[in-house]
Amino acid sequence: MHLSEILTHLGEERHQYFNAICPPVIQSSNFAFGNFKDFRKAFDDEFHNSIYTRGNNPTVNILRKKLAALEKAEDSLVFASGVAAISAAVMANVKAGDHVLCVNAPYSWTYKLMTNYMPRFNVTNSFFQGNNLDDLKSKIQPNTSVIYLESPNSLLMELQDLEAIARIAKENGIITIIDNSCASPYFQNPIEFGIDIVVHSGTKFINGHSDVVCGVLCGTEAMVRKIFESELMNIGGIISPHDTALIIRGLRTLELRMERSNQSAIKIVEWLEAHPKVEKVYYPFSKNFAQLELAKKQMRGCGGLFSVQFKTDSIENIERFSDAIQRFLLAVSWGGHESLLLPIAAFYNRKGYKDPEAPWNIVRLYIGFEDPDYLIEDLEQAMKLL
Ligand SMILES: *Cc1c(COP(=O)(O)O)cnc(C)c1O
Repeated sequence: MHLSEILTHLGEERHQYFNAICPPVIQSSNFAFGNFKDFRKAFDDEFHNSIYTRGNNPTVNILRKKLAALEKAEDSLVFASGVAAISAAVMANVKAGDHVLCVNAPYSWTYKLMTNYMPRFNVTNSFFQGNNLDDLKSKIQPNTSVIYLESPNSLLMELQDLEAIARIAKENGIITIIDNSCASPYFQNPIEFGIDIVVHSGTKFINGHSDVVCGVLCGTEAMVRKIFESELMNIGGIISPHDTALIIRGLRTLELRMERSNQSAIKIVEWLEAHPKVEKVYYPFSKNFAQLELAKKQMRGCGGLFSVQFKTDSIENIERFSDAIQRFLLAVSWGGHESLLLPIAAFYNRKGYKDPEAPWNIVRLYIGFEDPDYLIEDLEQAMKLL
């Protein structure tokens, strides 16, 4: 289906609501039935019937259709956060005694899910090097039920070979899950390479305006139904109809936003790579990126998230640089209209915490929709302090 059809029309049944261009926010917790027989029948299949908004809500279902089509999946679910979608995907596919094999350096709360939370239910874990298929194969155990990927990951942008890993997983009867937040469905569709479940922090590129926290899960109808009937209904981390309407509005401009962020990032990456105070830029489509060929194989481009490693002597210099920056905001998250700066040095020397594995001279940048020259001017003045 054409991307324009998905973003502008799919799932919208305007004749049902006064031919309104924008879908209504069906702000209702429950839905009434005309008679006893219909009421009773709806309970035979809650997956396909609006009974109660923890299960189905018509506003949310418009968004579900669009997200499934964007990921070339049969169906999707929307959650109150990316982490709710990630946890649901993992929990639905393990039982006590199972083992999860996870790529190194995933999103921080994914790491904690694997290492703190799941072990309480006797689900063990191992981590593998994302660029090393032999390492992956050697860590598969008879009880491995899930392989969890994040490609690119959201700091050093490391990739995994989706096609090869999906093949290995299928040979071993293992379910594959990928966090596709960083590429977005606009630039990468892992289901095309055989991955079973795609999850997103919809907070990032999918909503794209830094005003909603949300999660997305896409897969086959059977998988989505299984997760609907267990984790979605039982743990209940659902999105509200109001937030859903904001996400539908955000999605209208997915193509415009992704193209802008991508093109500005390419320009800024090239500028940084030519700067004497830059050691390295970590960006999948940089000519210096170790996995550039793999990026070209499985991604159509990349959004504006990347990291830069500076040539500088001290954490104090990174602090001075961060304080001098005016046009990037110092904040977590990414994927909205505004450009952001996340210095890894901020996580060094914290009482009671281990230092991060990533070097202190790495700064993550997110390029929003401002003019790239306006952003370069700001980097240029602040980098004098490095
Ligand atoms: C932000 C983020 C998450 C978590 O999503 P929330 O919507 O904040 O729960 C998961 N994975 C990646 C890569 C992220 O950047």
